[in-house]
Amino acid sequence: MTDIYVKNGFLLTMQGEGVGSIQDGAVAIEGNTIVAVGKTADLDNEYGGAEHVFDAKGKAVLPGFVDAHVHTSNTLIRGEGQDVPEIEWMLKTQAPFGPHYRPGDRLLGSALGVLEAVKCGTTCFGEIGGNMAPAAEKVFGPSGVRAHLANTINEIGPGSRPDPHKPYIFFSDIGERKLKESIEFIDKWEGAFDGRITTMFSPHAADMMSEELLLRVKAEANERGMMSHIHIAQGGREAIQIKLRFNTSTVKYLDSIGFLDNTIIGAHCHQTS
Ligand SMILES: [Zn+2]
Repeated sequence: MTDIYVKNGFLLTMQGEGVGSIQDGAVAIEGNTIVAVGKTADLDNEYGGAEHVFDAKGKAVLPGFVDAHVHTSNTLIRGEGQDVPEIEWMLKTQAPFGPHYRPGDRLLGSALGVLEAVKCGTTCFGEIGGNMAPAAEKVFGPSGVRAHLANTINEIGPGSRPDPHKPYIFFSDIGERKLKESIEFIDKWEGAFDGRITTMFSPHAADMMSEELLLRVKAEANERGMMSHIHIAQGGREAIQIKLRFNTSTVKYLDSIGFLDNTIIGAHCHQTS
């Protein structure tokens, strides 16, 4: 028995010329499998009696969008502090909220973010954060979407960043702990929820860790055939730090140490050249 039959839509098939399209198209779905794609006129007889029939006349029918980098856990403070200089935004308008989150608040934000995204057609999410396990378990898994998740690894601790114009102070013990926790997260969650949850490594950003740890994380990822998801050139503070430490830009620095290749997802990238 066909579960879902969508008919009379403008299909974007991702096959053939360009993105591929079928006018007056139909899609039949059984369980979690698309069993037929074609002209409505050709599929109606066989699938028209499906349990759920949707008339998509005047609508486009296409694969779900992929949001390759998102922070759904911050949805509740979305838009906060948009009127301050970028260099102050994170530490002065976002970070102060951290201690005031109640248990479960970030999950509520994450659920809201996923719900809004799904309503706009996004079905796959790439998210990194301090501890993605609760969101994997309570939000991404049960909601039915796909998610590529990673716990961020950095060497930032209390007092690490007293002045953006001086080199940050790194705590190697924090880096070791986060790397260990990240591997535990990967071991537990890779392939969970019928394979809809997958994992990566996430060296947080070039300015938030030593070169040694940055390369170690990449090596760990490559050894396992996995990707790394990293913030690159995400703002003024990072630019200052990389200039102080290496006298160049983030992208040039990462390229010079052999970090950039097709196993890296670089996020934000709004201060690249
Ligand atoms: Zn980000």
